[in-house]
Amino acid sequence: MLRYHTHPVTAFAQNCSIVWDDQTKQAAVIDPGGDLPELLATIDRLGLKLEQIWLTHAHIDHAGGTGELARTRGLPIIGPHRGDQFWIDGLPQQSKMFGFPTAEPFTPTRWLEDGDTVTLGAHTLDVRHCPGHTPGHVVFHSPEMKRAFVGDVLFAGSIGRTDFPGGHHQTLIDSITQRLWPMGDDTVFIPGHGPESSFGEERLGNPYVRGT
Ligand SMILES: [Zn+2]
Ligand SMILES: [Zn+2]
Repeated sequence: MLRYHTHPVTAFAQNCSIVWDDQTKQAAVIDPGGDLPELLATIDRLGLKLEQIWLTHAHIDHAGGTGELARTRGLPIIGPHRGDQFWIDGLPQQSKMFGFPTAEPFTPTRWLEDGDTVTLGAHTLDVRHCPGHTPGHVVFHSPEMKRAFVGDVLFAGSIGRTDFPGGHHQTLIDSITQRLWPMGDDTVFIPGHGPESSFGEERLGNPYVRGT
């Protein structure tokens, strides 16, 4: 069975998720934005073997700890989509702008495309490219768990900001309606910030996407 635990990191309380195979304890961390000592202590406490880093997008609160974690643990960096290269290049500047510790530079081991899959032991998650908040934003969907890790695409009652460089409102709405909704109303999503919700609940009550 696939399991997950969400651990908020950084001053932005970014929902970093640890996903693992129950039997083999092989784990991936999604969006290690920072607070690596606490994050690694949690992974140790759960008795997991961290093998991969998966990124939804390259904003500092999601990707800031990636370079250091990959270097110190010898981990591959999977994602995001190439559209976020300029955000990765701009991480040192993002660090300064938001008062974060200076992010170590990194190069993804593997860029992701819409329709790709990532694997953890015997388990597979589907990758969907969901631009709009950033051009290279991806989400990870586990049909097995009926869960989607959506980063800053969608929140409970809100949607991602689109006023950053490369952001685009209608593109974000299209990503949500064309790539998230088909996962099913009963799919629970883990947003980049705030509480979990389901796609069905958002289609009913989220003012940005109600009735879509
Ligand atoms: Zn973001
Ligand atoms: Zn964020």
